[in-house]
Amino acid sequence: MPTTDREPVREVWFATGSQGLYGPEVLQQVGEQSLQIADRLTGVLPVTVRWLPVLTSAAAIRRICLDANADDTCLGVIAWMHTFSPAKMWITGLDALDKPLLHLHTQSNVELPWATIDMDFMNLNQAAHGDREFGFVATRLGISRTIVAGHVSDPAVTDRVAGWARAAAGRADLRTLRLARFGDNMRDVAVTEGDKVEAQRRFGVSVNTYGVNDLVAVVDEIADAEITTLVTEYQDRYDVAADLRTGGDRHDSLRYGARLELGLRTFLTEGGFGAFTTNFEDLGGLRQLPGLAVQRLMADGYGFGGEGDWKTAALLRALKTMGAGLPGGTSFMEDYTYHLAPGHELILGAHMLEVCPSITANRPSLEIHPLSIGAREDPVRLVFDAEPGPALVAGLIDLGERFRLVANEIDVVDPPAPLPQLPVARAVWRPRPDLRTSAEAWLAAGGPHHTVLTRAVGIETLTDFAEMTGVELLTIDADTTGRRFIREIRWNQAYYRLAQGF
Ligand code: MN
Repeated sequence: MPTTDREPVREVWFATGSQGLYGPEVLQQVGEQSLQIADRLTGVLPVTVRWLPVLTSAAAIRRICLDANADDTCLGVIAWMHTFSPAKMWITGLDALDKPLLHLHTQSNVELPWATIDMDFMNLNQAAHGDREFGFVATRLGISRTIVAGHVSDPAVTDRVAGWARAAAGRADLRTLRLARFGDNMRDVAVTEGDKVEAQRRFGVSVNTYGVNDLVAVVDEIADAEITTLVTEYQDRYDVAADLRTGGDRHDSLRYGARLELGLRTFLTEGGFGAFTTNFEDLGGLRQLPGLAVQRLMADGYGFGGEGDWKTAALLRALKTMGAGLPGGTSFMEDYTYHLAPGHELILGAHMLEVCPSITANRPSLEIHPLSIGAREDPVRLVFDAEPGPALVAGLIDLGERFRLVANEIDVVDPPAPLPQLPVARAVWRPRPDLRTSAEAWLAAGGPHHTVLTRAVGIETLTDFAEMTGVELLTIDADTTGRRFIREIRWNQAYYRLAQGF
């Protein structure tokens, strides 16, 4: 699942547990059948599956786990106990494993051969209790993992495994992510603050601030010929407003927008950054707030947060990686304003400019309008409506002692009427279970106003990601009730304090 051209091929490892008791003939069958399952997964997963020879000893298991830790191409390990695999042999390996683990509880056959089943069959196909032995020891050791049960011919099973692999890709991407902040936090905003040292320990992302004029220096160096080429691309891909087009009164503003994009892209590429933030209060020598540039960089997989919001930028990048290649798109988002007509409540989400065009199926229009905040020239931006369909909004906050993810399953809808006066891209959605329950739960959780909206990644993948990074996730969905949600927050407070120790 390459997210950018510069990333290596990623793979998950498929480990099959057994033991020597059954003799070489059975072990050979175990190996053949597990290879078939690994092959089957290869056909449906977004990553390569590396099959490992059947494991029958503590030393071999420990070696595989240490190798998995050391190998950057290994996103995570899938484990399956084809026969009974006495689980003491897994203790030192699992204890050392520092990669996401998926316990695949499956078996080779779909149906039992009722007429011919004998003890040879029973000895070979005993994952039903072999995997219970493995589950016990993983729980006894407190190993975080995703458990998926069922046959690999069932798309519900392989979809879950694929989602886990995507979550593992997001985790792996964050381990080495470099994030550039141009300027600091917007002054006095609370939720966009946070502990960058803890973020690097927990997720791996390194967050560093640059003076915005470091960016200006790169922007100002961009050659006119490059700008002309990019402007041509804009005119091909978007419905460009007449005054912005070549020969139009405000064409120079579009050229400056292209200069901004090229400068930002150069800065990020040269620094090896996968995410960034801007701050409209601190634009230094920039003539426009970057709008179009941010939108197009997000569409290419970069994480972004407005107003110095590095946590949302990192989360957006991780979700972009998790959703790579899937339809639907993923964007920076902000809950902006409500439609409170009884029974038809909706949220209108947008931002000043920076919504990613990956969430629309339509051809965006490229426009220029005044910005009521920030004393700079009018910025160019793409304007569009988000494509309707089920989606997820997710936010990341720092509670002081730990991070918390908050997510809401939503349904993006067509706006009930056109919005001809609104000069920014937007999404209109109905939160589940309803606006009142959703908003009350979100506020009780302390969820942020900046979020990531994704139509590509579902709640199960985000749940796997939370599990493998050890971060709390509070989910608001069709089953949420206010009282249960408040209780969950209280239980979680106790759990996470105990779980992290002293
Ligand atoms: Mn904002």
